[in-house]
Amino acid sequence: MNAYPLEGGCTCGAIRYRLTSKPLFVHCCHCRWCQRETGASFALNAMIEADRVVLLLGQPEAVDTPSYSGKGQKILRCPHCRVAVWSNYAGAGEALRFVRVGTLDNPDALPPDIHIFTASRQPWVVLPADMPAVPEYYQRSLYWPADSLQRLAALKAIKQ
Ligand SMILES: [Zn+2]
Ligand SMILES: [Zn+2]
Repeated sequence: MNAYPLEGGCTCGAIRYRLTSKPLFVHCCHCRWCQRETGASFALNAMIEADRVVLLLGQPEAVDTPSYSGKGQKILRCPHCRVAVWSNYAGAGEALRFVRVGTLDNPDALPPDIHIFTASRQPWVVLPADMPAVPEYYQRSLYWPADSLQRLAALKAIKQ
């Protein structure tokens, strides 16, 4: 439905990137960690294979950051303006990037596929009734489209 590729970047313009296809799945995460990291009410992350994120300009810097799971994450930030463009979580590894949807030139293109950790949702945030929402995490096979599950399986096969 959306026109790919989608492009995005940091605030100062030193980092530019391109998503070459639609992401696997888009999380709207209402956990307290995401609230703190964004300084707002939730994080909007598009999960996508690393090789589908093409750097057009600059080199983001990985900042080791604690995470909810305790395994840590690397937040990739512009070395100049320090805006975060994506994260790699220890659990998913380098092959999977969590791109910050708000850094896209057209963030409207990627609404969430699911709301997670809604148990800590800020009470004024009203979720659409027709959008999947879970109190914490969820089982992928119940929510992801088949083609995304296949893409993830292919990624895991390469990793081993
Ligand atoms: Zn920048
Ligand atoms: Zn979160």
